[in-house]
Amino acid sequence: MIEPWLYETHVHTPLCRHAEGDLDDYAHAAFQRGFHGLIVTCHAPMPEGFSPTVRMRVDEFDDYLSMVFRAQRHWQGKIDIRLGIEAEYFPGFERWVEHQLQSADFQYVLGSVHPQMVEFKQRFWTGDPVEFQRAYFQILADAAETGLYDCLAHPDGVKNETPDAWDPQAVMDDVCRALDRIAATGMAMELNTSGAEKIVPEMNPFPAMLKEMCKRSIPVVIGADAHRPDRVGHRFGEALDLAESCGYRCVSFFVGRTRHEVPVAAARKAISCRTTASARMDWGMGDHARSGGGLEQPTWTDSTRAE
Ligand SMILES: [Zn+2]
Ligand SMILES: [Zn+2]
Repeated sequence: MIEPWLYETHVHTPLCRHAEGDLDDYAHAAFQRGFHGLIVTCHAPMPEGFSPTVRMRVDEFDDYLSMVFRAQRHWQGKIDIRLGIEAEYFPGFERWVEHQLQSADFQYVLGSVHPQMVEFKQRFWTGDPVEFQRAYFQILADAAETGLYDCLAHPDGVKNETPDAWDPQAVMDDVCRALDRIAATGMAMELNTSGAEKIVPEMNPFPAMLKEMCKRSIPVVIGADAHRPDRVGHRFGEALDLAESCGYRCVSFFVGRTRHEVPVAAARKAISCRTTASARMDWGMGDHARSGGGLEQPTWTDSTRAE
């Protein structure tokens, strides 16, 4: 279905233990920036003891649903708030995720491989950073082949775990093999704008990978992965330019787990239409303009970055 509007598809809340700001602040930011809707994608609970410092606990899941549905009612008529989830992919936990995804009416399911997790490193780190990168891309394709998710999040996240050994050309064959497998599943992949703020300062995935995705007709979904309200919609304009320069004419989002397409030009227009002088003033002066910091850093690993 072709739509004239765009959703912000990837935001977190303090329930994830490494994000800040009320959901209302995220909704307000999305509204001001011209989004038609906002999909909340907190990190899904995992069994007790599995990277517990960066996600809600199982017994907080009902709070998550209440929070999202309350915001949905509150913002009705202004912005379409939807329940999503960022579900983990980790080999051996497929049944857990499958069961989890049946437990609520999720509108959008991001599938994430997080190579920064202690659990991931314990299982897959062999001492060779390039081997680690290769393993990551294979696991990403494994995630797609489960069929559990709508879209694969930040699909080259491994580059920030091994930045000194990151040479896209060295792993391009592995990337292309993974993309062949992913394309065969029909799953979408994310263009995650938050990558531009990380150690390897470019969006995820890197441009050559985005081009290969486009060649294989893999749908692309833009998400800011906002862990604070002022990052909602962050760099979407740049992301649209990048997607277009890599060959995409449309970007996608999911509602009701159904993919919707937006022509790039329409997406650009949609998110520029409400960035008026009054909106800017509101951002500069209001309670909703937040600076970063304030929260303790999360502990995916010893070193560590969340997302
Ligand atoms: Zn995320
Ligand atoms: Zn996160």
